[in-house]
Amino acid sequence: FPNKTSPFSPLFSIPNPQESHCRALPFTSSSPLFEIAPFIQSEWEPILKGWICSAVSVYCLSSAIPRVGRFPSAMAAGIGSNRMVREGLALAALAGARSVTGYLQQAFLWEAALRSVYRIRVHVFDRVLQRDLGFFEGNDGVPAGDIAYRITAEASDVADTVYALLNTVVPNTLQVIAMATQMVVVSPALSFMAALAIPCTSFIIAYLGQRLREISRNAHLSVARLSAYLNEVVPSILAVKANNGELKESMRFQMLSLDDLEKLLRKRKMKALMPQIVQALYIGGLLLFCAGSLVVSKNSFDASGFLSFIMALTLLIEPVQVIEKPDAVDLDSITGDIKFCGVTFRYADNMPPVLNGLDLHIKPGERVALVGPSGGGKTTLTKLLLRLYDPHCGCILVDNHDIQDIQLKSLREHIVLVSQDIMLFSGTVAENIGYRDLIGKVNMEQVENAARISNADEFIATLSDGYKTNIGQRGSLLSGGQKQRLAIARALYRKSSVLILDEATSALDSKSELLVRQALERMMANHTVLIIAHRLDTILMADRVLLLDRGKLEEVSKSSLLAQDGQHASLALNSHRVSHKSDEA
Ligand code: ADP
Ligand code: MG
Repeated sequence: FPNKTSPFSPLFSIPNPQESHCRALPFTSSSPLFEIAPFIQSEWEPILKGWICSAVSVYCLSSAIPRVGRFPSAMAAGIGSNRMVREGLALAALAGARSVTGYLQQAFLWEAALRSVYRIRVHVFDRVLQRDLGFFEGNDGVPAGDIAYRITAEASDVADTVYALLNTVVPNTLQVIAMATQMVVVSPALSFMAALAIPCTSFIIAYLGQRLREISRNAHLSVARLSAYLNEVVPSILAVKANNGELKESMRFQMLSLDDLEKLLRKRKMKALMPQIVQALYIGGLLLFCAGSLVVSKNSFDASGFLSFIMALTLLIEPVQVIEKPDAVDLDSITGDIKFCGVTFRYADNMPPVLNGLDLHIKPGERVALVGPSGGGKTTLTKLLLRLYDPHCGCILVDNHDIQDIQLKSLREHIVLVSQDIMLFSGTVAENIGYRDLIGKVNMEQVENAARISNADEFIATLSDGYKTNIGQRGSLLSGGQKQRLAIARALYRKSSVLILDEATSALDSKSELLVRQALERMMANHTVLIIAHRLDTILMADRVLLLDRGKLEEVSKSSLLAQDGQHASLALNSHRVSHKSDEA
């Protein structure tokens, strides 16, 4: 796997990217190796070529090392002397050969990995084609989104795994063995010391990384507390004044702000400390070796041997080192695969968790309805997905990237929220739809297209200035349904792949309802959708219905919702909750 690996990953294991920070592992997508082995085997040719290249590459590397060690003495023989030219040319040739074979090794192994995936895909698709219709239809039918997911997204995970496997089995092992041999040749005693030191340093660095994560989490929490406080106090400012509470509230706010300052400072300090510690470990290690070489070896090797030793050591660590977390990734596009793994979240330390070890997997193109009692945490779940808050436990993956590793900008670009309280801004209709872009840069053609799909074009045409009409503060000139359709148009303009509807259809007049529903259905067709709703007709637009109850999700069958013949599913669902409670009692 490309990122997130355990300290010794390429050598000793094929890690699962979810493993490092996730308690629950409900969605292991990797197929058992023996099932995919035949597909890999049939690519033996590029595999063999890749491995031969890696052997040559490692050979070049290990023959270059003693030469580099000897080079200073060759230079001492005189600039331009025969010996120096000979050694220099040999080194250049080895370095060149190493680059070429290193490149070929990767190219061949990726070819093998991707061609295996191609074979797997074709095989799976042929099997799908051979199934009888019963496989796809009816209640137990496999949804199309599921099949598409298996053939596309899961298959590319397999490619990463296969590449990591091929690269581990031979190239990394060869490099470690060759470098260890070089080290032992120079000094067995120092090699023994290095064997002790490597796991210790890896452990220290991994531990510091984990501490940093914890501290960052605490910092997030204190901001959340501050914002919760403001949300509580500002709306009730009248009560505060009437009760002479200004001084008291000012003190409370200062305390919370100070706490926030302290946490943020700790996070910044820790971040500043990390690279210094890594550097200190590195320099400390070098000094230790210098001291060690004096104490242990007593002239058994010289300066050139020592240089070779350090080089071999660095190259041995390369395939086994702690692979530092890469910078946050910027995703161009996402397929819309969403996983919640054991997510626990509370708004404040002294409050009970809103979500408690919650697991959820939404596949690309799937439409999932989320229902449950008010205050059950549905909106909170969407806030976590958009990273307005971070979970305390567990993780959230989008296309198999932890969302903490995805750039916020990129995450929120691909996931769009249409909620009950529609945020319109003062400005023109076009500016509101094209809000994603700077005011001068709005693409009118795309604005009009989005308005058409969202059934907003007709009413916009009746406005005094059409798309240039100023719609006033928060769209106060428009009806609920019109605002809703503008919000959908804005979401469409953004070309996102995941759509969250948070009670988007609950406050509509019956006249606009049909238009809005039509617009939503069109939009849902090419999005992964999470629908939060109370109305049965909206819930039934989904492929799957999940009930959020006491911080956890459970599947509800659509037929059981229909059987309860309620116009309002929330009633049915609330009684569902009640019956649960009495079960417990
Ligand atoms: P739902 O959308 O299912 O109605 P919410 O996610 O809005 O539920 O709320 C879940 C719980 O979290 C509720 O008990 C609510 O009071 C609490 N809550 C929501 N937002 C905040 C906040 N900003 N600060 C503190 N508590 C909150
Ligand atoms: Mg809500």
